[in-house]
Amino acid sequence: MKGKALADYTIEDVSALLRENVDAVFVADSDLNEYKSIVRKGMFEQFMDESGSYHDLIEKLWFHFGDTNERITEDYHVFVSSYGEFKGKYSRRLRIKLEGSDQLHMVQMSVYPLANPKQYLFIMDELGDNEYEEEYSTAKKVNTIQNTYLFSMYIDIVHDTTSSISISEISDDTVNASIKYSEWRMMIVNMIWPEDQEQFLRRTDPDYLKKNFTPGRTSSFDCMMRNLEGKYIWVKLIFSRAETSNEDDYRFVFMVQNIHENSIELLSTLKKYEKLALTDPLTGIFNHGGIETEIYNAINIRSKTEEPVSLMMLDIDFFKKVNDTYGHAVGDMTLKQFTAIIKEEMSKEKAAVGRWGGEEFVVVCYGKNGNDLYDMAEELRTKIEKHEFPEIGQVTCSIGVTEMKAGEEFKELFERLDKAMYASKENGRNMVTIL
Ligand code: GH3
Ligand code: MG
Ligand code: MG
Repeated sequence: MKGKALADYTIEDVSALLRENVDAVFVADSDLNEYKSIVRKGMFEQFMDESGSYHDLIEKLWFHFGDTNERITEDYHVFVSSYGEFKGKYSRRLRIKLEGSDQLHMVQMSVYPLANPKQYLFIMDELGDNEYEEEYSTAKKVNTIQNTYLFSMYIDIVHDTTSSISISEISDDTVNASIKYSEWRMMIVNMIWPEDQEQFLRRTDPDYLKKNFTPGRTSSFDCMMRNLEGKYIWVKLIFSRAETSNEDDYRFVFMVQNIHENSIELLSTLKKYEKLALTDPLTGIFNHGGIETEIYNAINIRSKTEEPVSLMMLDIDFFKKVNDTYGHAVGDMTLKQFTAIIKEEMSKEKAAVGRWGGEEFVVVCYGKNGNDLYDMAEELRTKIEKHEFPEIGQVTCSIGVTEMKAGEEFKELFERLDKAMYASKENGRNMVTIL
């Protein structure tokens, strides 16, 4: 159909033009917290209700972050631009996903404040695929770069102000919310992992910032913070004081960077190294340092509870001969098998097994008194005696057992344990002695 000549259009045509050419027209009142739809077509029939609360409308339009239809958590409401009211005319594009669909809808939205204060006219139109595809892929690239920064802002601690908050995952706009810095801190602290809150408050304290930042200085710290979806992630909080020649000028740029994936990887590497540092490479049990630490920890635990702790020291008999006769490799294999038997015996107990050095082993066993552990040591001694070690056949060991006394020191305890083991050696080997 051929359209009218431009000269023929009059003001009377406006409502028909809107009705025919845009998908949705809404009126809203922020004071009464209400909205009503005047035109609602296409995707908007599904996406928006006929009428409802104004705040719900704003949330629905803004909280389609990261190309999903998930809502952001309450904590982030404060960062949503124009949340509550519009001070001027406003226009932007939104990417909206409807529930149960993967399709992305690009929507052009314009908001006009009406003559009635706190009332607004929303005009929305869905753009066709080819109208935004290219623009969208560029926007996405930009977003990926920005998304490592969850949000950023400018703060002035002397005047207690904040400005230019931008939160890239929700919106590409900058939010000019007039939040005081002091209020902002108290808001953000709720998004921080409880154990990190004290550090957050200390490092964002105006006096701390004044004392520790010369002009131009940047400093950061890492902590866990709830992200838009409500999950705790690792973030880097960065403060940078503006370059200034006025020593009373305390303006800062503040940024929150998402460092979650790197941090998780780093933490798992650290855990691996921590484990390696305490592990004997040949047998896979605690090394000397590892089991020594365990003894110190056991002494500490024993000082706080009545639960008994007992120790065992094992030394393989005539092990030098094994090496001399069958070679070092067979000796190593024997040590591994010997370890496996001890571990198996102690597997049902709350116990730590370590290699003290060479062919000497120490076991720390919780919840067992000396006599209990003596019985287990005797069982272990018999098992080893009966075990058929490849190539070499029989091997025996001498064992010492002792129970930790409340309040005793490492040296006293360990000397008694050592003495018990040597008593077994002196009295003929392949036996258990308790002292
Ligand atoms: P005893 O019954 O008095 O304990 O005699 P022993 O031969 O076991 O004691 P000694 O302390 O004289 O010898 C310990 C031997 O353990 C010396 C060394 O050849 C061997 N040894 C120590 N560490 C290792 C190891 O990592 N691998 C191998 N294969 N042998 C080791
Ligand atoms: Mg030995
Ligand atoms: Mg020895």
